[in-house]
Amino acid sequence: MQQVLLVEDSVMFGRLAKSKIEKVFGVPVIWAQTYREAEKILATTKDGFSMALLDFNLPDAPNGEVIDRVVEEGISSLVFTSNMTESVRTLVWSKKVADYILKDDPNSLDYIITAMKALEENQNTLILVVDDSSMFRQAVSELLYIHKYRVITATNGDSALGILEQHPEIDLVITDFNMPGMDGCQLCQKIRAKYKPDDVAIIGFSSEEDRTLGAKFIKNGANDFIVKQSFLVEEFYSRVRHCVDNIHLIAQIKEGSIRDFLTGLHNRRYFFEAGGKLFDQCCERGENLACTMIDIDFFKKVNDSHGHDIGDVVLQNFANLLTSSFNEHEIVARIGGEEFCVLSADVQKDDVIEKVEKFRQLVESTPVTSLEDGRPLSVTTSLGLCMSIGESLETMMKTADEKLYQAKERGRNCVLF
Ligand code: GH3
Ligand code: MG
Ligand code: MG
Repeated sequence: MQQVLLVEDSVMFGRLAKSKIEKVFGVPVIWAQTYREAEKILATTKDGFSMALLDFNLPDAPNGEVIDRVVEEGISSLVFTSNMTESVRTLVWSKKVADYILKDDPNSLDYIITAMKALEENQNTLILVVDDSSMFRQAVSELLYIHKYRVITATNGDSALGILEQHPEIDLVITDFNMPGMDGCQLCQKIRAKYKPDDVAIIGFSSEEDRTLGAKFIKNGANDFIVKQSFLVEEFYSRVRHCVDNIHLIAQIKEGSIRDFLTGLHNRRYFFEAGGKLFDQCCERGENLACTMIDIDFFKKVNDSHGHDIGDVVLQNFANLLTSSFNEHEIVARIGGEEFCVLSADVQKDDVIEKVEKFRQLVESTPVTSLEDGRPLSVTTSLGLCMSIGESLETMMKTADEKLYQAKERGRNCVLF
C-alpha cells in the first residue's frame, strides 16, 4: 500500500485515525482538515493515493462534495459520517464509494482498519464478469474496481470458459443469464463439470421478470444470485465478499492441511498424494524419477545440548536450505522428525547426484543457527538415493532409505546411491 489520504475536520478523530492507520499499515497518512486543503494536496501529490478516508461533512463542504472530488481521481474511498439518514446513505452510495462508516460507533476505527485491509486484499482477487451487454460489463467492472478487485470480462459463455482455463487463479465468476449461444445456467453447468465450488464461486444475475432464474442458477451450481435490475450496491458488495471470502478460506484450509507447520515444507500427506501422482505420470511418459532420502546427523545431540527450541530453529533453517537447493518442480517434503524426502522427475542421474552432493556441502558449510554466546552451530546430513524409477513410490523410498542407512554406517555426512 502507498500513502493514504485522510480528510477530516475533527482534530480528535483525525489524530486517532492517522496514528492507528500509520501503525497498522506502516504507510504515511496525509491529513487534510478541509475541502480546500484536500484539493491542494490532490493537485500537488504526484505519487497518488492507495485509498482515501473522507468525512462526509466538512466546514467548507457539508454535503459530501469532497467525495466527488476524490472519487474522480479513481481513488477507492471510505466515507464516515455521524448522521446516517436514509437520504445521506443513498447520496453516499450514489457517489461510488467503497463503504461508509458511522463515526459515533465506538468500533468505528476498527471497522475502518478492517475495511482497508479488505480493499488491500482484494487486489489479489481476480473476478471474471460475463455479459453480452458492454454497458453492463462496464458497470459491474466499475463497481468491482471501486473495491480494488482485479477484473477480466467475457462477452459469452465460450470465451468465459477459455479465460477460466487460462487463469486458474480466478476466484469468482459473475454471469448474466441471457446471452447468445450459451445462457448463464448452461455456463454454470459447464463450469461445475470442471471446477468444484472450492475452486471458483459463481454469482448469477437473475431478473425481475423471471423470478425462477435465481433458483435455476443455484440448482445449476451457482453459489448465489443477484437481481439484475434492482440490486443495492451494498448488497452486491456483500454477496461478492461472501463468495470470495469462502473461496479464500477453503484455499487456506487446504494449504494448511498439506504443509508442515514448523518448517512450512510440504508434509508427509502431501508427499504421498502428489508423489504418487508424479510416479504414475513418469511411468506413463516413460520418464525417470529419482528419490532422495535426507536425514540430519546426530540431531538428537542438538536437542540434548542446546534444547528443543534451538532444535526447532535448526529444522527451520535446514528446510530453507532444502527449498533454495531444489526447484519448484521437485517435491520436497518433511516426512518425519528430521527426515526429508525429495522427488525429482525427468532428470539425468549424474545431474541428481551432483545436485544432492552440492546440497550436502551447502549444509556442511552453512551455520544453521547461532547459539546464545554468538557461536555458529552447524549440522551435517546423510543422503540416500534411489536413481531409477522402481515398482512403486514405496519401493523407491525403501531403496533410498537403505542407502541412507549405509551412509550413516559409513560415518555420516555423505551421499550414497
Ligand atoms: P542419526 O545421525 O543416526 O540420524 O542420529 P539422530 O540423533 O539424528 O537420530 P535420532 O532418530 O536418534 O534422533 C532424532 C531426533 O529428532 C529425536 C527427536 O527428538 C528429534 N526431533 C524430531 N522431531 C523434532 C522436532 O520437531 N523438533 C525438535 N527440536 N526435535 C525433533
Ligand atoms: Mg466533520
Ligand atoms: Mg538423524
